[in-house]
Amino acid sequence: MKILISSCLLGEDVRYDGANSAIAYTNSFTFSEKEKFMDILCENEIYSFCPEVSGGLSIPRAPAEIISAKKPFMVKNEKGEDVTVNFLLGAKNTLDLCLSENIKVVLLKSNSPSCGNEKIYDGTFSGKLVEGEGLTAKLLLENGILVFNEFQINELYSFLKKCNKSK
Ligand code: SF4
Repeated sequence: MKILISSCLLGEDVRYDGANSAIAYTNSFTFSEKEKFMDILCENEIYSFCPEVSGGLSIPRAPAEIISAKKPFMVKNEKGEDVTVNFLLGAKNTLDLCLSENIKVVLLKSNSPSCGNEKIYDGTFSGKLVEGEGLTAKLLLENGILVFNEFQINELYSFLKKCNKSK
């Protein structure tokens, strides 16, 4: 199956701080979760993608948060600069890739203003998380694409096993 994965989870240094969030090297995951992640990488066709870089933002860049999660969306960085257009473009580019390559499942980084599928920071740059989706995750979900985050590897793994059995 084709799966789009946030580039930072694959170890690419695309985060705002120039670092990555590689699952393989992070202590937050058990050995079993890392093993399942490696199986997912080996058994599927992986597309690495970073919406924010695709939307024209640099590495490194000032961290950004969603100020308005409803239309009209508003995303600003820590310096107060409006980066909404970059975030919307990144979301559109991600959806375009999914549609053109027939990708129906994605694994995105949690809590990101682009990739988060359950929680995002509240827009005050105080580290407080609230329920909500990043702009890319939201657009993909609205278009029927299944979105998992890195703490849902077990769920993604089981889903893929079920899909393979039913083939
Ligand atoms: S936009 Fe997504 S892929 Fe890019 S660094 Fe942020 S969380 Fe990772």
